[in-house]
Amino acid sequence: MAAKATIAIPALGKQVQVPTGLFINNEFVPSSDSQELLSVINPATEEVICSVVSASAKDIDIAVSAARQAFKTTWGKNVTGIERSRLLHKFADLIERDAQELAELESLNNGKPVRIARDFDIGDSVQCLRYYAGWADKITGQSLEIDNRTKMAFTRHDPIGVCGQIIPWNYPIQMWAWKVAPALAVGCTIVMKPSEWTPLTALKLCELAKEAGYPPGVLNTVPSYGNVGGAALASHPDVDKVAFTGSTVTGRKIMEAAAKSNLKKVSLELGGKSPHLVFESADLEQAANWAALGICYNSGQDCTAGSRLYVQDSIYDKFIKLLISKVSALKIGDGFDDSVGGGPVISKVQYERIWNYIESGKKDGATVVLGGERGNGKGYFVQPTIFTDIKPSMKIVQEEIFGPVLSVGRFGSEEEAITLANDTNYGLGAGVHSNDANQCMRVSSELEAGTVWVNQYNLLYNNVPFGGKKNSGIGRELGSYALEEYTSVKAVHWNFGEKLEWPL
Ligand code: NAD
Repeated sequence: MAAKATIAIPALGKQVQVPTGLFINNEFVPSSDSQELLSVINPATEEVICSVVSASAKDIDIAVSAARQAFKTTWGKNVTGIERSRLLHKFADLIERDAQELAELESLNNGKPVRIARDFDIGDSVQCLRYYAGWADKITGQSLEIDNRTKMAFTRHDPIGVCGQIIPWNYPIQMWAWKVAPALAVGCTIVMKPSEWTPLTALKLCELAKEAGYPPGVLNTVPSYGNVGGAALASHPDVDKVAFTGSTVTGRKIMEAAAKSNLKKVSLELGGKSPHLVFESADLEQAANWAALGICYNSGQDCTAGSRLYVQDSIYDKFIKLLISKVSALKIGDGFDDSVGGGPVISKVQYERIWNYIESGKKDGATVVLGGERGNGKGYFVQPTIFTDIKPSMKIVQEEIFGPVLSVGRFGSEEEAITLANDTNYGLGAGVHSNDANQCMRVSSELEAGTVWVNQYNLLYNNVPFGGKKNSGIGRELGSYALEEYTSVKAVHWNFGEKLEWPL
């Protein structure tokens, strides 16, 4: 039995108990062979919250064995869709019951406002579990005509097996839900590796999995460093699929590890450098609101952050003024203050990385029209920064910053706007703002992205697929499409009348 940490949440005068071990076979356990710990930091204060056991490669082996055993015995094909649905509904109810506590923990560990963690991240995650609970007893294959007198075929959509799931720190609960819900819905078992920066809520959710009634080994959770536990999962010979969200650099490593081990199925949701296009016919007030959301939401630590904005010449000056006023209106601060709309960035490393980009933008000759100055005091707070006078070759225009830093350019024609938008190796999201319906249709068709938002930005729904093209990833999460990531199609050929003459 591993320890629990008592975590004080001073702003609320409250204490929360969080398990700090590895969750394997429905028990929290210490590492089998390692003393390594993850130090969990509050990014708003830079203080250590607690330490969590870091799984070794051997621990990953143990967790994978537990998941395999459950897959063969209590889960996998041994449980009905009705039961999988019932359990997912129960799990969702428990998360909803504990939403406030989970939101406080999420805020403490990740920095995002409690209000946003509770009403958006957790609210959406509860819905995600319920959405896939709806699918759990509706997994169907096809019945295929071959010869109505003698033969037919049908397909079964079998659960793929043991799934390694590796998630980042920007949406610790939501990325967990996007991966866990479809996997459990179809009957897969899971070894979940949360980010080393944000393991707390993933561990807390394990208590709820047990309370919901999931059999031992169905959902295992192994906080660990990426190059230890993550790498061990990606290269494990008994893992059937790895689902990953994070950087493109790591995504490549995971695909390589999968290829070199057992050719496990891989889905990758990677970074982006998503463009917003604002055309002259747009509702400028609304476009500015959506553009501000696009770069400020989650302090810019968002794979779909609208970090490049291109505005049509004829409305450029007016729009920039409007945008600056909108972005300046957002209050950044400690997530326990209900009046803030954005928190700190996750870590010192990320903070310095963002500042390096801001300095490079200045050095390359872009103009800072908002922010761009370091604050002092504790916490990794970065005020939103807007650059204009950008050039396509600048680092701030080419590379994913993962912070609240926006590059604004301009265009004359629709054709030019599309060329600028697609001038990136990424292809995750894109936004179009225009009141010309034909233009919206033309432009959304030309944009190279897995998601295009028309006259809105960044909103996702559990029934709509999400994923990238180009360097932004492969595979789709959410919607019915995600079920394909966790199932393996088996064709069964059935002969009820044909006789084989032999020899041929
Ligand atoms: P990362 O890719 O290093 O980490 C994401 C997850 O992968 C973590 O759980 C990590 O432990 C794991 N990981 C790291 N190395 C691994 C390896 N060799 N094998 C298997 N798993 C491994 O991302 P990060 O360091 O957390 O953030 C760096 C950058 O990644 C960010 O600045 C941003 O550009 C991008 N990012 C993107 C997303 C997204 O949602 N697309 C989320 C977080 C970070």
